[in-house]
Amino acid sequence: NFISAVVPPGEIGVKFDDIGALEEVKTALHELAILPMKRPELFSRGNLLRPTKGILLFGPPGTGKTLLAKALATEAGANFISITGSTLTSKWFGDAEKLTKALFSFASKLAPVIVFVDEVDSLLGARGGGFEHEATRRMRNEFMAAWDGLRSKDSQRILILGATNRPFDLDDAVIRRLPRRIYVDLPDADNRSKILKIFLAKENVEPGFDVQSLANATEGYSGSDLKNLCIAAAYRPVQELLDEEKKGKSCDTTPTLRPLSLDDFIQSK
Ligand code: ATP
Repeated sequence: NFISAVVPPGEIGVKFDDIGALEEVKTALHELAILPMKRPELFSRGNLLRPTKGILLFGPPGTGKTLLAKALATEAGANFISITGSTLTSKWFGDAEKLTKALFSFASKLAPVIVFVDEVDSLLGARGGGFEHEATRRMRNEFMAAWDGLRSKDSQRILILGATNRPFDLDDAVIRRLPRRIYVDLPDADNRSKILKIFLAKENVEPGFDVQSLANATEGYSGSDLKNLCIAAAYRPVQELLDEEKKGKSCDTTPTLRPLSLDDFIQSK
């Protein structure tokens, strides 16, 4: 139970098309992870094209790193295992060696598999000198040893995908094991518009609703911020209806909600 999720590929419920923008990230993941898993025969000759053992996704919070990891597993037809760095180091002061062995042998059994390590900095962060907890240090060393111990045959089918908001906290030993690093940036206005279109695809919005002007008005918002904004805006017509019912103005048995206006979003900011 140090693993927060184990999901087979058909049950993850997220694919690349559900993720707005981030096209370059998706292309990179396709080349680095999906192709080697789906077409291993293309990567078995010579030395230049070797599948990578590790990829790091880094960037601000809420930009879709976890979502990308899940969708990657769907697209690669791989199982998905998720662990959280801070949970591992804070809860498991016990036998680091047993724990990592269990994790890696479990992963081998589930291969092809994506092992997603969220907050990878807290598990594999820079050595904390004298202040570092002994258990954290042992866990990290065991994790790296088990990772190095993956036979190259396995590495084609077991991918460690780390995510962090604090890439500068990772030390050289970790950076070396995550040779492919992909920056997941905050969306610009055009990309915010693409993300908003996904969230609003099934919503009842006013005719002529201008997604681009909402995108322009949400500078600095992450994908996650945009989703929260949409949820808050979608609640406004519900709240209005409830208020009307309370005042006794409406007692429709099948009440209809008014469509969402741009103002609902602006007021919810
Ligand atoms: P953190 O670094 O805080 O863990 P994260 O980068 O892993 O964040 P996610 O957890 O993947 O971010 O994103 C949170 C939620 O925001 C997602 O479940 C999804 O609903 C939404 N989201 C973020 N980015 C996108 C996007 N590009 N397209 C669609 N939804 C998105």
